[in-house]
Amino acid sequence: MKTLKPVLSSSISLRGDDAIKLVEMVLDANNMIIEVSDSWDASAKAGNADSRLSASAVIGQSIDHFISGDSSVMYLDSALKLCRLKKQTLFKPYRCDSPTHKRFMEMELQPLANGQVKISHYLIREEAFGSPLYLKDVTRTSSAKEVVVRCSMCNQLKKPGTDTWLPPEEFQASQDAPLNVIHSVCPACQVAIWEFRVGRPESSD
Ligand SMILES: [Zn+2]
Repeated sequence: MKTLKPVLSSSISLRGDDAIKLVEMVLDANNMIIEVSDSWDASAKAGNADSRLSASAVIGQSIDHFISGDSSVMYLDSALKLCRLKKQTLFKPYRCDSPTHKRFMEMELQPLANGQVKISHYLIREEAFGSPLYLKDVTRTSSAKEVVVRCSMCNQLKKPGTDTWLPPEEFQASQDAPLNVIHSVCPACQVAIWEFRVGRPESSD
């Protein structure tokens, strides 16, 4: 597997220099995963991902298989189209909380030759929750009428039968009795624009 070159050193962005690049992947023009960074397996393991998410298992598959929820898939798909169309690097902050920590992240989409796009995920900072919140993803088996909806981008949560998105701190669930959630993208994140990253020289790879 090819090792992807770090691009952090030449970046000018909102992202601080202490941001940590966690993983990278490269998609072909049809959104098939054709490459992942060497950090992939370690990162998957740290997130307790199962073997279906190992580097060797994800290469050759569509990115859609690894995104939870139709609206999350459509959301990323439209960003990838924008990236290819504009031929510019896009980025957006998002959250990827663990049960114990708020994890402030950034996703970057960088257009490469032949319609390929490199997706990089950076950890900007972490902040401990007052008490842990354990979630169980039931997107494939439940509906928004039955369970809490979690926004894939900001990680806010919405109770069934309500229209209010609340921060995760307002919910409680233990490891023994995790909160069932399905994934979607909240209205605020749907309309939040992807920003263009400027000032970065063309990547040399
Ligand atoms: Zn959101």
